[in-house]
Amino acid sequence: MKVLVLNCGSSSVKYQLIETSLEAIEANADREIARGLVERIGTSTAVHVFQAQGRERLTDTGELLEHRDAIAAIMRTLTHPERGVIRDASEIDAIGHRFVHGGERFAHSVLATPEAIRAVEECIALAPLHNPPNLRGYEAASTALPGKPHALVFDTAYHQTMPPHAFLYGLPYVLYTRHAIRRYGFHGTSHRFVGWRSQALLGKPRTETRLVTCHLGNGCSLCAIDHGRSVDTTMGFTPLEGLIMGTRTGDLDPGLLFHLMHVEDLDERQVSTLLNKHSGLYGISGVSNDMRELLAEEAKGHERAHLAIEMFCYRLRKYIAALAGAMGGVDAILFTGGIGENAPAIRARSLAGLEFMGVRLDAARNEQAIRREARISTDDSAVQVLVVPTNEELIIARDTVRLVAGAPQA
Ligand code: ADP
Repeated sequence: MKVLVLNCGSSSVKYQLIETSLEAIEANADREIARGLVERIGTSTAVHVFQAQGRERLTDTGELLEHRDAIAAIMRTLTHPERGVIRDASEIDAIGHRFVHGGERFAHSVLATPEAIRAVEECIALAPLHNPPNLRGYEAASTALPGKPHALVFDTAYHQTMPPHAFLYGLPYVLYTRHAIRRYGFHGTSHRFVGWRSQALLGKPRTETRLVTCHLGNGCSLCAIDHGRSVDTTMGFTPLEGLIMGTRTGDLDPGLLFHLMHVEDLDERQVSTLLNKHSGLYGISGVSNDMRELLAEEAKGHERAHLAIEMFCYRLRKYIAALAGAMGGVDAILFTGGIGENAPAIRARSLAGLEFMGVRLDAARNEQAIRREARISTDDSAVQVLVVPTNEELIIARDTVRLVAGAPQA
């Protein structure tokens, strides 16, 4: 069946059309038909980039004021007589939606029902920036594609297996019962995908391994997958916690917030912008949030680019060891995301010093593993180190197929 996967941000829609089925999932033979990205929604200069498999990439610019307009533009492109890949909308069998926050309500993906949508709306307080655009995208797509099954796939769902000692903060317990204040974690579909691929690469079922998965993109998080279940992750109530990221701080002394507001005379919104948009690699280096640029600047002798990368790798190393400790050991460390898949230097620098845990990187294998699955540890390394390109859209499409077929989720 053909599944349209939608990932709706506040001013963007990322999408993929994927041909898949229960049999294709089993044979790992799902096929991407086309993908695209609409950005700058809400302006007269919205940009729509469309790429059908094996064809030239196309770019359109025009006025797209709402998500509804963006979805209509996507449907026009997919069904266009020359540029398109399907005859009409009836060829799309189901739609899979990425949702950021499912709170404690969703530990799995679900088919959209009025009740499920109400529950997602109740989670808006937990993700005021992300769930509303996700919902707008869902509403637009359910109007454009009526009568089709829509699946909701949550970033937080995979981490719902974390035990209370890992997900609670050291706050009064009543704040958890009253406001659901706890650690949720994010990037769940990516960690889940990488954990799933580990089985083929390690030749062992997930239920027999302890993994630390490292999703390093613009946002970064680690996950401890203990015998197939997420037992801890570095992001928390929001995606700010944990690692140093492109523009986010990662861990911070909460006491510092009051001090910051005072000495820099900032209000709540300004503090949020500071922590989310002006910090991390970008804030430290003063140059860029882009790891490629930072590595290039560092090579030219830029001191703060060097400092930012050192801090990034140090925090990463500390957390890899922490999550290994949380599980009482680790069998494999897996890298994914733009940085994890493409930056051998970052992998090497963040693992240096973990030899005591039995991690031994093979320098040549590491250098050669760019954007492809590979084992980059030495043959005698006690802990295997793997690179696994992530594919969140594929997980969303597969969950959608399984839900439509009434098959159990993997
Ligand atoms: P997002 O989280 O937005 O999906 P990605 O997973 O695409 O982001 O990751 C973006 C990050 O990956 C950026 O910091 C970018 O610099 C980094 N990256 C991509 N390619 C390379 C590369 N060849 N070397 C180093 N970093 C890279």
